[in-house]
Amino acid sequence: MKKKHPFDQFLKEFIPQVERKSTQLNKALWILETTGSTDAADLKADLDTELRFLFNDPKTYKKLLEWEKDPSLSDPIQKRQLNVLTRAFKQNQIPKELLEELAQKEAALSQSYANYRPELNGKKVSENDIREILKKENHPEKRKEAWEASKKIGEVLAPQILALVHLRNKAAQSLGYADYFQMQLDLQEVDPKWLLKTLDELSQKSEKAYSAVVSEIERKQVERFHVHIPELGPWAWSDPFCQEDPVDPHELDRLVDGVDISGVSTDFYKHMGIDVKPILSRSDMYERPGKNQHAFCINLDRKGDVRTLNNVKASLKWLETVLHELGHAIYEMGFDEKLPWLLREPPHMIPTEAMALIAGRQAYRYDALGRLVGSSPDKEALRKKADISLKRRQLIFSRWVLVMTAFESELYRNPSQDLNRLWWQCVEKYQKIRAPMNREGKFDWATKYHIGLAPVYYFSYLLGEMFASAIQEALIKECGNNGLASEKAGKFLQEKLFHPGNRMSWSDLVRHVTGKPLAPDAWLREFATT
Ligand SMILES: [Zn+2]
Repeated sequence: MKKKHPFDQFLKEFIPQVERKSTQLNKALWILETTGSTDAADLKADLDTELRFLFNDPKTYKKLLEWEKDPSLSDPIQKRQLNVLTRAFKQNQIPKELLEELAQKEAALSQSYANYRPELNGKKVSENDIREILKKENHPEKRKEAWEASKKIGEVLAPQILALVHLRNKAAQSLGYADYFQMQLDLQEVDPKWLLKTLDELSQKSEKAYSAVVSEIERKQVERFHVHIPELGPWAWSDPFCQEDPVDPHELDRLVDGVDISGVSTDFYKHMGIDVKPILSRSDMYERPGKNQHAFCINLDRKGDVRTLNNVKASLKWLETVLHELGHAIYEMGFDEKLPWLLREPPHMIPTEAMALIAGRQAYRYDALGRLVGSSPDKEALRKKADISLKRRQLIFSRWVLVMTAFESELYRNPSQDLNRLWWQCVEKYQKIRAPMNREGKFDWATKYHIGLAPVYYFSYLLGEMFASAIQEALIKECGNNGLASEKAGKFLQEKLFHPGNRMSWSDLVRHVTGKPLAPDAWLREFATT
């Protein structure tokens, strides 16, 4: 019999502790998000820290590094577990005082972000109020005032974010990285040079298609607001960052009039041979006071207790969201049962987002909509409109990700440059929206939540979209044009995409599923042809 490696013994003792703590944490999180209970919030914060502490011990980290070099450890599943653990320990080797200072400053920033309300015409307004104005108001001057009010928060947040950027860089440098952007990508198995090159390629090759979309949008804005193109300004869009499709989205909601969104979503997955009823019966589907207003999917124990949280209303957006979260859920249900607990997770958010995005896109596709909401003649024109809007949405959102990623890489490389100038340079270059006059010395870059509180994360959404398009092409090759709506497709996804779990890196998984490394070409073929 083969001699046991000391790493086996370590796993046997260590993993059950992690499993127990993370299941407790997930349960506290579920109670918190479904009720808003402050007890649950305290408990969640405590468990979070306790879980992090499990990965703190420098002596264990040293041992892991030694085992990484040990040639007698050759089993691929063992080696992958070692790799996952080494990365988890590495980010917790930052000096303790620094970690505490980071946690405090992040909590304070989060408070400032949640509590700030700008004034508009002498009245405090919320983010939702501003969004309402940008959706409905037709007077350009009033729109401009609302947009400017939405940027006031930057003055409050910018000094706090900059302090955090310096601390994050200090932490990254203590682990030997040039800056925090480089560290985050390395820990996520993403090569920074590859990332920027790939996004650059996508940007250049979709330039023409995006310019056509902007021209179409500007034509409509000029008609609606009666001003010339140079005077339109970013406030002509329907959200403060110009990241959403401003072309009348509510008209499309008529598609789901009288439609049982959970029911048609269940049917959709049934066509793939996957029963989502048990998932939905554990899920929390409708609005309630105190409950989180967004949507997510959570795997509580990596043993089959997968749930989604939604706030379903009769809109196309919520059909998309329910399909999307169930996409995450079937992925989480599909891991090889023989995998050790530690590897029963996606290797990165990119592949699970890809699955969720493929499913969510069905809510906008002409053919899929026919199956989802019916193909009666009165819905015909709207189904066509929805299909066209999908392409527009993809192009608009991709540009927003390009702004965020380019800005963040520069922010961490050199935080003392003129950041507002950098911000508007990125916006003009990628979104093709002119910088308004008199924004010098302002802090428009600091107003986006993710810059301060979900750093170096946004790029994953676009890589997820790219992978989604590549999977779709693989599915069409495998199962014919009907794509997703077949048992064969369900089987392909389960075997190729879900089954491996975290057995391999996300980039190896892309190759495993599509036969090619991740590249923008499938996405470009789908959305950027002119
Ligand atoms: Zn998602």
